[in-house]
Amino acid sequence: MRPETDVLLSRLTTIGTGGPTRAFARPTSLAELEEALRFAAKRGLPARAVGLGSNLLAADAGVDALVLRLTGKLAEARVDGDLLIAGGGATNAVCLHRVRDAGLGGFEFACAIPGTAGGGVWMNAGAYGSDWAAILVRALVATAEGTRWLTPDELGLSYRHANLSAGQIVAQVEYRLAPRPRDEIASQIEKLVAQRKATQPTNKRTFGSVFKNPSDELGAGRLLESCGLKGFRIGGAMISPMHANFIENAGDATTADCIALMTEARRRAREQHGVELEHEVVLLGDLIVQ
Ligand SMILES: Cc1cc2nc3c(=O)[nH]c(=O)nc-3n(C[C@H](O)[C@H](O)[C@H](O)COP(=O)(O)OP(=O)(O)OC[C@H]3O[C@@H](n4cnc5c(N)ncnc54)[C@H](O)[C@@H]3O)c2cc1C
Repeated sequence: MRPETDVLLSRLTTIGTGGPTRAFARPTSLAELEEALRFAAKRGLPARAVGLGSNLLAADAGVDALVLRLTGKLAEARVDGDLLIAGGGATNAVCLHRVRDAGLGGFEFACAIPGTAGGGVWMNAGAYGSDWAAILVRALVATAEGTRWLTPDELGLSYRHANLSAGQIVAQVEYRLAPRPRDEIASQIEKLVAQRKATQPTNKRTFGSVFKNPSDELGAGRLLESCGLKGFRIGGAMISPMHANFIENAGDATTADCIALMTEARRRAREQHGVELEHEVVLLGDLIVQ
């Protein structure tokens, strides 16, 4: 295996920031993925996957890791009975397309989540009252030591969390869905997408939610809005004027600008409401939010 070097994470993340990866590879099969993981382990490099980079903030100085983007067979999706079988790199859009064509419902909630199957498992991504935990039957997780299927219980899926760590790469998933008329699926998706467009900055460069909601009753967006943060800007990064739990790349943002905004948002939430916000976005590289 010959990994590429110095691939910029700004090209691999939706916010469009981040420096070079020490090594980068695009495995197209399970065998290639396992080889890449052994390559990293031999050199003492942590291995991390990027999906669509839609909940990722990577250090401007770069990331000392082997970064993997799953492609080829590892990004395909097909339906078998009431199961969707997808590679870890399959996008939610492709998966949704397959299940809608097959008349299977239950994945509509993911229509506004611009990620991949693997990223969905890692984040236990969710929306509109559902999440990956509700549909996942099992995930095939590859490591340098071997590959095995894990159940949602073994993955410990909870609110935007799975018990996975560097070196564990989701190669394949199975979702269990239920028959539903195609026109019902299509009209629900249309409704959810319209709802999104009305409330979130879907046409800007962002990384989705910055912070987790402190509780079911208290949304991070409302809390930050009450701290007067909408439209607040540091360098090229701005708290979205539309939704205060989003950071927009308003031009030439750096990761340092985003981290400075997150630190200011945390400070205000702490001082004005006594709430310690926990970031939802995944930080890659040497990054700390105070
Ligand atoms: C406009 C917008 C709206 C969004 N709305 C939502 C929403 O409603 N709900 C929600 O939950 N999220 C939302 N997000 C955030 C994001 O889309 C989800 O968290 C998504 O699941 C991330 O998937 P990804 O493949 O892009 O992962 P990435 O952002 O690339 O990575 C996220 C984490 O997953 C890991 N990862 C990725 N692929 C794999 C793999 N194959 N194996 C192991 N680890 C992997 C990465 O290493 C990283 O730790 C939104 C983002 C945007 C930009």
